[in-house]
Amino acid sequence: MNTQTIQCDALVVGGGIGGLTSALELADQGYQVAVVEREASIGGVMIALSKVFPTLDCASCITTPRMAAAAHHPNIEILTCTEVKSITRDGRLFAANLMKKPRYVDEKLCIGCRQCEYVCPVDVPHEFEGGLGARKAIYVPFATAIPQKAVLDAENCMLCGSCEKVCPSQAVDYFQRPEEIKVQAKSVVLATGFQLLPKDSKKEYSPPGSLNILSALQMERLLSPHGPYGRVIRPSDGKVPDSIAYVQCAGSRDKSLGIPYCSRVCCMYAIKQAMLLSGALPLADVTIYYMDIRAFGKGYEEFYENAKAMGIQFVKAKVARIAEDEEHNLNVRVELMEEDGRVEERAHDLVVLSLGMVPGCNPEEFVPVMRDDDGFVKCASPKTAPALTDQPGILVAGTAAGPKDIVDTIAKAGAAAMEAANYMRGLELDLSAVTEAVTGEEERAAERAAS
Ligand SMILES: Cc1cc2nc3c(=O)[nH]c(=O)nc-3n(C[C@H](O)[C@H](O)[C@H](O)COP(=O)(O)OP(=O)(O)OC[C@H]3O[C@@H](n4cnc5c(N)ncnc54)[C@H](O)[C@@H]3O)c2cc1C
Repeated sequence: MNTQTIQCDALVVGGGIGGLTSALELADQGYQVAVVEREASIGGVMIALSKVFPTLDCASCITTPRMAAAAHHPNIEILTCTEVKSITRDGRLFAANLMKKPRYVDEKLCIGCRQCEYVCPVDVPHEFEGGLGARKAIYVPFATAIPQKAVLDAENCMLCGSCEKVCPSQAVDYFQRPEEIKVQAKSVVLATGFQLLPKDSKKEYSPPGSLNILSALQMERLLSPHGPYGRVIRPSDGKVPDSIAYVQCAGSRDKSLGIPYCSRVCCMYAIKQAMLLSGALPLADVTIYYMDIRAFGKGYEEFYENAKAMGIQFVKAKVARIAEDEEHNLNVRVELMEEDGRVEERAHDLVVLSLGMVPGCNPEEFVPVMRDDDGFVKCASPKTAPALTDQPGILVAGTAAGPKDIVDTIAKAGAAAMEAANYMRGLELDLSAVTEAVTGEEERAAERAAS
């Protein structure tokens, strides 16, 4: 196995908006940064969003320039398709073992022309589109992916050789092997983000074979102009939905699933999507079934009030069960909390689950940091220094420390960069104090010897 060695000041694990922000802030101060991302492109969850609350700016228009700035920064090295195996303390430094998974495409040769994609005969569900659209077995992950390089999915490849024949730069390499990368760094920023709970976590909300119950991330893709269908339709039959329901707290604040905490952003993204749906489908009814609306940030309460004024229905109710008939129409059984718990069955064409946010990975598997009761990286001092972990020199950024919106993710990522820089300056000062002491001692010894 090939082994490469990298020396840097800061190792950032996770190339979402949190990790990229920390990396850029450190790189702008002159530090050398390596960003490790397990996927084939940087960008994290944010690059898959349609628009962002509360401004309704295009998510891609904010994320893509940051991705490009990081990729072109002379002080940042980005390692995609790369997993962290271990990070250990090695004297004053950290030693990280990384594993670069084979892309089966030579990154240096690939020009991102997509000729390979056009000739590939295989169609598989596209992960970036939440499984709603199709991709090829060899593909560029999405239109604004960085790097714009193809990746071959070995599990689905038929080895027909078409991509290799058509590639103008001979970049396809079926024999590529995993590569070991050793990194020496002075500090580590954990920006490993979050994932949504799987849609079938709660059996009451996942009738077998259901096609029209979506996760909120799938709805983000449907609402995106470059989404799988280019418009909002039902996945089962392509019908334009007349009635769409949101089920809030579908997996958050739910002790039966071991997720007692609030995921913070679900109320706001459901309101955002409901507003976007009202624009995209002016004749459709949109109903949000909620327990409480938590509009916690600046401008968020006004955003909620605007949604009510637009005619979005907010119904305080607990959803007990969702059933899907043979035509894939949905029946939602609700307990109306403002009507003495009266139970009603309501018909909808599409249901969107506001699923709980859980940690993006378990960092304890590769680095000795403590996790909190919810499984996120534990902050040593959540109120006064939210970027510090229990390990000096290992910082945490963004949703790796718990659910957050983009504003908070960016603020905390900036704090992590500042703490990492402080820690590294501390190391330099220690080192210069030691060097001065040693030099002084040597000079004194020389003077003693001379006299
Ligand atoms: C449906 C939905 C809609 C939303 N809409 C909005 C909105 O409108 N406005 C708003 O403010 N917020 C919104 N949010 C929240 C927003 O998505 C998050 O705040 C933001 O994406 C967090 O960024 P992050 O970098 O912390 O995490 P992520 O985006 O999860 O990035 C983490 C990255 O780390 C990588 N990674 C994880 N583990 C490893 C590992 N071991 N090794 C290498 N790489 C690793 C992941 O692949 C990922 O790329 C929404 C969330 C959802 C689910």
